[in-house]
Amino acid sequence: MRDKARIARPLLLGFAFVAPLISLALIQTSIILALVPLFVSHLLLLYATLVANSQWWGAVLTTFDTRRDEVWLTIDDGPSPAHTIKVLDMLERFGARATFFVIGARAEKHPHLITEILARGHTLANHTFSHTARTFWCAGPQRIAREIDRCAETLRSSPARPNLFFRAPVGMTSPFLHPALARRGMRLVGWTVRGLDTIQRDVEKVAERIEKRVKPGAIILLHEGHQITRDPGFGPHCLELTLQRLSQRGYHFVIPLPEQLGTGRGGK
Ligand SMILES: [Zn+2]
Repeated sequence: MRDKARIARPLLLGFAFVAPLISLALIQTSIILALVPLFVSHLLLLYATLVANSQWWGAVLTTFDTRRDEVWLTIDDGPSPAHTIKVLDMLERFGARATFFVIGARAEKHPHLITEILARGHTLANHTFSHTARTFWCAGPQRIAREIDRCAETLRSSPARPNLFFRAPVGMTSPFLHPALARRGMRLVGWTVRGLDTIQRDVEKVAERIEKRVKPGAIILLHEGHQITRDPGFGPHCLELTLQRLSQRGYHFVIPLPEQLGTGRGGK
């Protein structure tokens, strides 16, 4: 969906610049009418920024190319002393490979878990250094750069491979994010289906939600390190049931090859 971004991005920015001028021109006629362009412009900017997987600011990878029953399992927000090893054992049991979108600050604190993830044949990706979920969407270019680079730095100091993929906290984007990623040769990864396992309290519902929306080439999003005090087994159970259900349907959990990520096409 690069084409969509190529058109939408200049239109959004252009309209955001022109809208106040139109409002000024209309203010003599009617104050209410004058507010309309400003309101619409803000609404469009918020949609592009806050709606997860929106392709308006730039391409977000939400599927990969395959003709086989393959999916890309991505696990966010680790590493976590409560979950990572359990998650790794479970993946091994199902012969599944996954990409861990880790938070830099947590990786710095638990480097042995990072080493373990890699040793078990999985890959790492960048999920910011401090995961400021409430404010990342309105971060300026410098803060965005810091969040990406500090996380990358932490992962580089472990025996990691280059980290080409980035996922923003809660999937929000911003006008500054894509240029920052492009300068670093990185790509923004969204998802086809998420289990909503950080807010959901029913394991069955998480797995069911994923099973309903899964298709070949789907990117699946689950988390680790959440709901630890309420129910420490919840996250691993969600993963286990998802692995069970999709394996029964013949799906394989793979890490896509670079040529399978060519189009960056959208679709939720
Ligand atoms: Zn996250």
